[in-house]
Amino acid sequence: MFDALSSKISNAFGSLRNRGKLSASDIENTVTEIRQALLEADVALPVVEQFIERVRTGSLELLPTLQSGVNQAQSIFDLVNRELTEILGGGARRVRYAKNPPTVIMLAGLQGAGKTTLAAKLAKFYKDQGDTPVLVASDLQRPNAVTQLQVVGESVGVPVFAPEPGNGVGNPVQVARDGVAYAKSKLHNMVIVDTAGRLGVDEDLMAEASAIRDAINPNEILFVVDAMIGQDAVRTAEAFRDGVGFDGVVLTKLDGDARGGAALSIASLTGRPIMFISNGEKIADFDIFYPERMASRILGMGDVATLAEQAKKAFDPESTKKLEDKFNSGEDFTLEDFLEQIEAMSKMGNMGKLLGMLPGAGAMKKQIDNFDESELTRTKAIVQSMTPAERRDLKLLNGSRRARIAAGSGRQVSDVNKLVEKFTAAQKMMKSLRGGKGPALPPGMALPPGMPMPAMGGAPKIAQQPKKKSRSGNPAKRAAEEA
Ligand code: GDP
Repeated sequence: MFDALSSKISNAFGSLRNRGKLSASDIENTVTEIRQALLEADVALPVVEQFIERVRTGSLELLPTLQSGVNQAQSIFDLVNRELTEILGGGARRVRYAKNPPTVIMLAGLQGAGKTTLAAKLAKFYKDQGDTPVLVASDLQRPNAVTQLQVVGESVGVPVFAPEPGNGVGNPVQVARDGVAYAKSKLHNMVIVDTAGRLGVDEDLMAEASAIRDAINPNEILFVVDAMIGQDAVRTAEAFRDGVGFDGVVLTKLDGDARGGAALSIASLTGRPIMFISNGEKIADFDIFYPERMASRILGMGDVATLAEQAKKAFDPESTKKLEDKFNSGEDFTLEDFLEQIEAMSKMGNMGKLLGMLPGAGAMKKQIDNFDESELTRTKAIVQSMTPAERRDLKLLNGSRRARIAAGSGRQVSDVNKLVEKFTAAQKMMKSLRGGKGPALPPGMALPPGMPMPAMGGAPKIAQQPKKKSRSGNPAKRAAEEA
């Protein structure tokens, strides 16, 4: 969503990095470029002005302390990073648990903001952490909202309290109150209450949300807002803060193409932190909002922390350990291991999204957009059509076996050949990495496109840089060599 912003800011710093000793006017130019980029991304004007002022003042203060030769642009960049993190809310805030359970979380926002979808995502998130949430269907307004909540609740294995059919029938305040009582009686430690939105901010909506709030006294009211609605997001947030009040914000639809900057202004303008983000329709498209990670993405530094977490979730520690041991003991990495890896990768979610978290992803946008997700599925089909023995020993693959595999996977023999070729190359590369002779690339990076990272176990560790052998005992000569 922030690709354009990210690439403009990168450009601004690109030209700053090419300067000699920085002057006040260099700073001014960079600040102006960043200001323009933020405005074009739809960040609210007062937020931009405040941010720019802080960056300008901070940079000018830094200027006399910077020495040419030392990386001056980097110091300015770090300052921008800190200020951007600050604008986005500083540190991440977690939901406050009630002293006496259940913890009550109320979702509020306009119709279509993504509340019902979010209710299930939140429920799953907390269930995975060992909580025992129950979902309460208090959106009795939007057609099918109750059924939708029941369906998504079931899909994540969380009970749904839905005594009323909805579609205009039933009292949402009563349902919310009974829902909390139900949770208490059944010893659930968390209640997530879905409420009705309206198409725009109106009195009905505010009155209903306020009445529910007063009836259940939530520990957290989360305001859910669609990041794609531009400046309306800010206006709606302010209206909700004044009409109902809320403790935290959830930004949804961050996967959209809209500029999205408005949404980023919300934390600063309302004084309420963004707590979660949703970036797709699937249950897995959800995360805690970390201001520093978002700042890092906007500044083109990627979001390796999130990538690592997702990898950790997808790769189970036991098979990762097995693979690592295998790798270290000098055994071959086989297509069987590869299949396991592809399966884990598919659990990590959309590859385009994952690649987008890599540093410099903004500059690779085209390639990332062109990444063919189905290539993984096709590769998987070929591997699955092989016998276990074939997967372990590619040398068995003579012509007739290749023809059989191609037919079994609905592919051409040439596709099978290509996979075998690529895989053999990857195996070789891994051997050389193990020997410490090879190029020190992160696992998988040297693989041909479409071939996922085979050795990515646990968090994607950057391969250990093999220690460079010093080529000269003379420090000056060595420095020259290394340069
Ligand atoms: P509610 O009226 O606030 O309960 O909104 P819903 O949960 O029904 O969501 C409205 C629509 O937005 C549905 O079609 C959802 O699938 C979709 N949606 C929700 N969150 C996201 C998101 O993060 N990204 C995208 N692309 N769609 C989303």
